[in-house]
Amino acid sequence: MAGEPQDDCLFCKIVAGEIPATVVRETETTLAFRDINPQAPTHVLVIPKAHYENAAALGAGDPGLAADVLAATQAVADEEKLDSYRTVFNTGGGAGQTVWHAHAHVLGGRGLQWPPG
Ligand code: 5GP
Repeated sequence: MAGEPQDDCLFCKIVAGEIPATVVRETETTLAFRDINPQAPTHVLVIPKAHYENAAALGAGDPGLAADVLAATQAVADEEKLDSYRTVFNTGGGAGQTVWHAHAHVLGGRGLQWPPG
């Protein structure tokens, strides 16, 4: 069922505390933690605690929760003192999505090129 924890989901396990993560921010509905393989000096993942497989499913299934995730990305950027940063939602394997639980990458702390590869 939409939003329910999935046994085989890595990020659901992080939400449940079954896999450790370096948490930088937590709200009732969201969790933000450092990426295990950072691509920039700041590389934080912001996720909804509820399970949706990508950003599109999150936006369709719970728009309020999607807004919570976006608000959390800005809060993380503020806490990390980032004037400029990039928010990325990879959607689908061809775009680089490897974890099937919606997440925003918050990247900053260095110059970022456009377009991305
Ligand atoms: P995606 O490729 O799906 O857009 O992003 C998944 C991200 O999760 C990757 O940047 C990857 O480094 C990160 N990641 C994968 N496994 C773990 C983990 O166990 N802990 C943390 N903190 N990040 C992870």
